[in-house]
Amino acid sequence: MNSHAAHKDLQNADYVAWVKFLRQSDDWNSEQIRDFELSEIKRITQHAYENTKGYRKVFESVRAKPEDINSIETFRRLPLLTKEMIRDGLEDFSCEYPNREYITTGGSTGIPTGMYRDPGSFAKELASKAHQYHRIGWREGDRQMVFRGLQIETEDCMQFAPEFNELRCSTYQFVPSQMEVYRQKAFEYQPEWIRCYPSSGYVFASYLKDSGEPFPKIKGMLCSSENLYAFQKQLFREVFGDEARIFVNYGHYEMSALAGFCEYTDDYHVLPQYGFVEVLDKDGNLVTKEGEVGEIVATSFIMMATPFIRFKTEDLAVFKGWGCEKCGRPYQIWERIEGRLQELIQTETGRLISTSMLNMHDDSYEYLKQFQFHQRERGKVTFRFVPKENCSENFVDEVQNKLQNKLGNDICLQMEVVKEISLTKRGKHRLLIQELNLKEHHPSLDKSLKI
Ligand SMILES: [Zn+2]
Repeated sequence: MNSHAAHKDLQNADYVAWVKFLRQSDDWNSEQIRDFELSEIKRITQHAYENTKGYRKVFESVRAKPEDINSIETFRRLPLLTKEMIRDGLEDFSCEYPNREYITTGGSTGIPTGMYRDPGSFAKELASKAHQYHRIGWREGDRQMVFRGLQIETEDCMQFAPEFNELRCSTYQFVPSQMEVYRQKAFEYQPEWIRCYPSSGYVFASYLKDSGEPFPKIKGMLCSSENLYAFQKQLFREVFGDEARIFVNYGHYEMSALAGFCEYTDDYHVLPQYGFVEVLDKDGNLVTKEGEVGEIVATSFIMMATPFIRFKTEDLAVFKGWGCEKCGRPYQIWERIEGRLQELIQTETGRLISTSMLNMHDDSYEYLKQFQFHQRERGKVTFRFVPKENCSENFVDEVQNKLQNKLGNDICLQMEVVKEISLTKRGKHRLLIQELNLKEHHPSLDKSLKI
């Protein structure tokens, strides 16, 4: 059976063309990359200047025009774009674009950012991720088991998606008895890969370790949406064996920076065809020393309807250097990502819910400036939020219903209006304040909650 040809993404012309381009440009040298980046920067700034009021103002604030941008240095004189600027002025920073779609995300920081995405951009996003997975042998159509924040209304909480050849398992039911059902099903399905959030993979791997039950041999794990911590990788190796490749990429909904491991190393390789990425220290200077931490500031080459130019992601990277000795790609290399803490909420029956699962990709957060989850007691969680001026009581009810639906009926959700949500010591927004000690019921989770 040729399952590859049937894979849904391979029937999307934009996806196929972008995978082909990435493959052809995979061996570019530094000079070719620099030329490409500069021409993309010129293209995207010209587009943003001509078609959006917001970016025109950004240019005017530094008395510049797109034609003044003739080098990376001149480009870097443009001011930085914050999440708050997009949140408060989305229409100004967006333009009419064919088939654009409105999406929102709470992201990892609790500042809801809405934006417009077009189908071509999304196809490039999927293709770019696939291109990185190809490095470790993944192919479209391979059998994969997916543990993500999906609510699945079947009796066994699983669903097979033939167009992607994947078995989807709901992580809303992450209790040992349900994980045992998934484990047994795996022997029948024989997945080649597991795709998951690191936190959901960790809960499942902890179950396998604590129960001592076996799992079929897999080629690897594809983790995304969250940071992967060393202790998680270690447990995955322990449970799935040294031959299973644990792969992770860094990305975000604004589709401005994408970085993933390579064939040989567990360092983040920043993909230059996807966006222009700067790591900046707190004074706005480029981080150039190995081991130094800076904020990821990114300019998307693929987002057209809402362009992101010098966008402050609020994510932190540990800079390693330029070029990977093992694979030879002259890319920007990061040792790891910091400060993207995935978090877990515990329900009354002991289920663990990752906050990554609570993102709502519709207009749910349109009336909220900021929010944060707070858990003090098992089975109870408070959603604290700063409303926008246009926020009505009906809307709050609506958000409450949606969240309650996602959380399930074994946890009590309280809504609390607050004037502001304070930042962490490092000046970051935090999505969950967890005061529970979850160690008691989940011994292997001990370490994950200490960071
Ligand atoms: Zn490499």
